[in-house]
Amino acid sequence: MTVSRALTIAGSDSGGGAGIQADLKTFTVLGVYGMSALTAITAQNTLGVHGIYNLPLEAIEQQIDAVATDIGVDAVKTGMLSQAPIIERVAERIKANNIPNLVVDPVMVAKGGARLLEQDSQQALIRHLLPLATVITPNLPEAEVLTGRTITTVEEMKEAARHIHSFGTRYVVVKGGHLDGDALDILFDGETFAEFVAPRHETKHTHGTGCTFSAAITSELAKGASVHDAVTTAKHFITCAIQDTLGLGQGHGPTNHWA
Ligand code: PLP
Repeated sequence: MTVSRALTIAGSDSGGGAGIQADLKTFTVLGVYGMSALTAITAQNTLGVHGIYNLPLEAIEQQIDAVATDIGVDAVKTGMLSQAPIIERVAERIKANNIPNLVVDPVMVAKGGARLLEQDSQQALIRHLLPLATVITPNLPEAEVLTGRTITTVEEMKEAARHIHSFGTRYVVVKGGHLDGDALDILFDGETFAEFVAPRHETKHTHGTGCTFSAAITSELAKGASVHDAVTTAKHFITCAIQDTLGLGQGHGPTNHWA
């Protein structure tokens, strides 16, 4: 039996709804063998982030090298990278190990307001990671930080996608979930736009949606899907996960990866 292999380089969410835990659950549900390289440990539940402990650069490097040199990686995603030196080291190890199909989820701030990437580290993301990326998946606030522009319309989402594409990534998905109306995401390949729409589902349980969406894209790329097909599957997966949440915890709970 041959199995497709996906690696997530991201932070741990002790609450299990976002980060490494969401990624590994998504990989498993989508039939891919999941591996992880932790960048940071967060003490977290549905009420928020209570502590952040970044791991040493050597520990991050060793985890990536260990899995890449033995088990092999068909696709990789990055999530919480905390600070510029971690971004630089992660980019270096992805390149050194020739890991294909990089999905960058430019995690910056948790929904509760905790910073998961130090301010001003987005330049490191742009300089070191985006030239290696197959896809980047910013939500609107992240696209605003990356472009320095306010985004309030679909036309502005498209302008942001063009701008972010110029940083060297092959594809850009700008997620419009923060706009009113249907949840519209756009995919840009440098020439044409594709749109992915789902009806809006009002819920406070959307913790980890960005992690889950990018992990689903990574799973499909690991299996050999095109980027367009991977985004189609991921959009369906996250829409189902949001519509059928588990109602866990007293705050913003996780989505349902098995939906
Ligand atoms: N915690 C970790 C470790 C993450 O990687 C992420 C990802 O974005 C979050 C928290 C944020 O979760 P959310 O903003 O969906 O609540």
